[in-house]
Amino acid sequence: MEGCIFCKIAAGEIPGRKVYETQSVLAFEDIHPMAPVHVIIIPKRHVATLMDADAEGMADVQAMMAAAQEVARIKKVDQRGFRVVINCNEEGGQVVFHLHMHLLGGLKLRDGLA
Ligand code: AMP
Ligand code: ZN
Repeated sequence: MEGCIFCKIAAGEIPGRKVYETQSVLAFEDIHPMAPVHVIIIPKRHVATLMDADAEGMADVQAMMAAAQEVARIKKVDQRGFRVVINCNEEGGQVVFHLHMHLLGGLKLRDGLA
């Protein structure tokens, strides 16, 4: 989608530090990491939010979850543990309106949601 920063990363128009890629999803390092491991996983196809995911979008969500397993292995947090988060819309804290999942790990994550 025009002007979408994650579409631009998916298209290779702006650089991303790629961690993992399949035909439908891309995983790259978060530019402002909140934890020692902080990877963003996106569908290559533009979907604005989780609530905009139709049947095809849900297939992307499944592919994102499968990618999370691979990213956890690549980053060596598969055994130690990690967290996956999807922020949706304003109160969910979504800032970039291209569906994405955060994979966070590498430290003992605190409980709590806010
Ligand atoms: P959210 O609040 O869920 O929309 O999170 C958006 C995330 O994207 C934030 O953690 C940002 O640090 C990250 N981000 C924004 N721009 C880039 C970029 N160009 N490359 C990598 N990560 C980015
Ligand atoms: Zn996009």
